[in-house]
Amino acid sequence: MTEHLAQPLNVADPEIARAIYNETRRLDSGLEMIASENYVSEAVLEALGSVFTNKYAEGYPGRRYYGGCEYTDVVERLAQSRAKEIFGADHVNVQPHSGAQANMSVYMSMLKPGDSILGMNLSHGGHLTHGHQLNFSGKYFNVAAYGVNQETEQIDYDQLAKLAEEHKPKMIICGASAYPRIINFEKIGVIARQTKAYVLADIAHIAGLVAAGLHPSPIPHMDFVTTTTHKTLRGPRAGMAMCKEEFAKKLDSAVFPGVQGGPLVHVIAAKAVCFLEALQPSFREYQKQVVKNAATLASSLKDLGFRIVSGGTDNHLILVDVFAKGITGKVAEKALEHAGITVNKNTIPFDQNPPLVASGIRIGTPALTTRGMGEKEMQIIASWIADVLANPENNANLEKIKVEVQKLCKNFPLYTKRLTSYEQSNSA
Ligand code: PLP
Repeated sequence: MTEHLAQPLNVADPEIARAIYNETRRLDSGLEMIASENYVSEAVLEALGSVFTNKYAEGYPGRRYYGGCEYTDVVERLAQSRAKEIFGADHVNVQPHSGAQANMSVYMSMLKPGDSILGMNLSHGGHLTHGHQLNFSGKYFNVAAYGVNQETEQIDYDQLAKLAEEHKPKMIICGASAYPRIINFEKIGVIARQTKAYVLADIAHIAGLVAAGLHPSPIPHMDFVTTTTHKTLRGPRAGMAMCKEEFAKKLDSAVFPGVQGGPLVHVIAAKAVCFLEALQPSFREYQKQVVKNAATLASSLKDLGFRIVSGGTDNHLILVDVFAKGITGKVAEKALEHAGITVNKNTIPFDQNPPLVASGIRIGTPALTTRGMGEKEMQIIASWIADVLANPENNANLEKIKVEVQKLCKNFPLYTKRLTSYEQSNSA
């Protein structure tokens, strides 16, 4: 009855073990350039795969609805104090299961259905949870949306102020999924105070840069700050919400019991590990390289004749207008995937194409920088991207580039121990 407890995965479930192995190989042998992805450390993976996955712990440290939480409390308190140290927030809630749930919790803590919110247009770089009609945020609230200026392709703060004045939203939301420039949180904070709106910054994408001091912090200017922990922050797939002390109680009860049930303690343990990593000096060096790599990629692609949305980048991602070269984002994504380069199609501001076709691709450097790649590799990759996009239907050429990609990846190995351990245990 208990033998199953000790069985390794490749014995208990060979199909899933094989899929995990194949995914590890895919990561190791390809160029991961999706701006929202990264590679976590073995330490983060170990915490994620720990026995804390067994634990129910509704409530908060010191006041739980379940017994047996003494070590859970150690984990959650460590995660909280490390997050506070990184970001300098008054209050932090480390329980949101995802970025979407962190945002939902903030809305639930201050808003009622039917209230007005002002968020950034999805097609200008915002996120679904900032008021898109297909998302709960667009269904429950009256939404006004700001965007970027058509000339500069950077946030139009005058329009934002005008819309805030006109619509008197109860909450203004800033932060983005596909915006390559510095966001002026101070300016948005001033607009919110002038119009008596609460203000939330969702730093899901740039959290690592903020943690490293490479993007101005939203904390002094915002009532609430949410993030995911799995993008530039390089932790487990999850969320987190921070706020000023005066909103702490409301936020905590919006997360639990408002939006979620039991916290995922194993994920909180992994968040704590990633926060400790983010507090090390090497994390700042890593983030500096992420930004340098994105800048090099942007300038190399520009030199190769591509139009970069907003003219360049200040952060970890770039948006390339591939439609200016006569191909859609959809075609570009597929062709690059064929050549071993993973990116995503993305609308560009004022796009003429629908989102599933899109005129752009979004490219990020966090994952490749984690592997140790630098500016030299970015220049090589830019030339491959140009080569692929010059003739996206030439399969022989795509295959040839894929071989080059695999050669480069061999010099920057990933998760080697995991690969060899699976290969050894399955070779008998
Ligand atoms: N907020 C922003 C700005 C994002 O980019 C994302 C994810 O892409 C989210 C929230 C949602 O995060 P999750 O996928 O963890 O729900």
